[in-house]
Amino acid sequence: MSRRLPVIGILGGGQLARMLALAATPLGVRCSVVDGSADACAGQIAPLRVADWRDLASMEQFAAAVDVVTFDFENAPAATAEWLRQRVPVYPSPEALAVAQDRVSEKALFRDIGLDTPAFAAVSTRAELDAAVARIGVPSILKTRRLGYDGKGQFRLRSGADVDAAWAALRAQATPHGLVLEAFVPFMRELSVIAVRGRDGGFRAWPLTQNWHHEGILALSFAPALVSAELAATALEKARTLAEKLDYVGVFALELFEHEGRLLGNEMAPRVHNSGHWTIEGAVTSQFENHVRAVLGLPLGATALRAPSLMFNWIGALPEPVAGALALADVHWHDYGKESRPGRKVGHATISSADSAQLLARAQDLAQVLGRAAQLAPALPVLQAGMQHNA
Ligand code: AMP
Repeated sequence: MSRRLPVIGILGGGQLARMLALAATPLGVRCSVVDGSADACAGQIAPLRVADWRDLASMEQFAAAVDVVTFDFENAPAATAEWLRQRVPVYPSPEALAVAQDRVSEKALFRDIGLDTPAFAAVSTRAELDAAVARIGVPSILKTRRLGYDGKGQFRLRSGADVDAAWAALRAQATPHGLVLEAFVPFMRELSVIAVRGRDGGFRAWPLTQNWHHEGILALSFAPALVSAELAATALEKARTLAEKLDYVGVFALELFEHEGRLLGNEMAPRVHNSGHWTIEGAVTSQFENHVRAVLGLPLGATALRAPSLMFNWIGALPEPVAGALALADVHWHDYGKESRPGRKVGHATISSADSAQLLARAQDLAQVLGRAAQLAPALPVLQAGMQHNA
């Protein structure tokens, strides 16, 4: 009789599922993926079932073939997650998923655990939008409560004259899902906590990450963020409280704004996260491996830093020449095997260097080889400060 390896079922077959499957393999764990698209890129690594998640006959077969279910996509229908849970363990829980799917309940939870948020108001009618703008003011951002990601479903109001345009852009979303108006925060930096909680309640967090977005999409991540020990401890403590409150199992990201010395909660992602990709090379255990361990109830691995790291996200198309990037020391290349498409996450590169001076030099080399100086520019002052910090 052949040995039966544990199987993790993943709803969603994008790059996160692909990297989960890659991390699962050395542990003797297999992954099986369900996605509506036959060319979902995780299908190059793991068996792919092409099905709509609402197709219960397919879901029944899927559930019967896996030991536990998890997600690469936070907008998987909570009803499907709940239905699956009647058949097989599902981590994170459908309840945690439901909270994270709604920007208003997410912010209410943040406030509940003592984490401030930008001022916000739920909006579902034009009159409510006018009232919200009167209360919160401009600049502000109107967002869909659900199904928004990578800056999609957002409209920035720069002045009161933008209210009509904002309503016209998002009113179709106002009735089925609702909208939320948020004060625009002129933050000093964006940070994320990547953390993991096991089935036994054990909790670990990776060193804090600083992030830069371009047009609402993550462009760069740097770890460890150069914040005070006190701020880092507060961020980690909020992540832990959040995880305990949700009885969360698996990896999640807590996205934060640092503004006037305080932390404000932006959103949580109930899954492995783009700003944690650097952990593959930069930490003792990656976010992907620890998610696999967490959902299977295995001991969690150490989350300590191995080396300061900078991740470049590749959006739309991979930059060239790839061979030029591969020729540089400390550069780790990740090609998700996707076709190019505007706005699509097609790969990333992480530079993990022995020290901050080397990281800065390598980052400049990589940006130069690939013609990405503009992408690197916002992070340069931080990398330079990191060098002085360690000198
Ligand atoms: P989100 O999908 O809400 O995380 O928004 C994507 C990005 O837009 C964030 O990472 C920020 O860079 C920016 N953003 C979103 N909400 C705000 C806000 N209230 N104030 C300032 N910037 C924001």
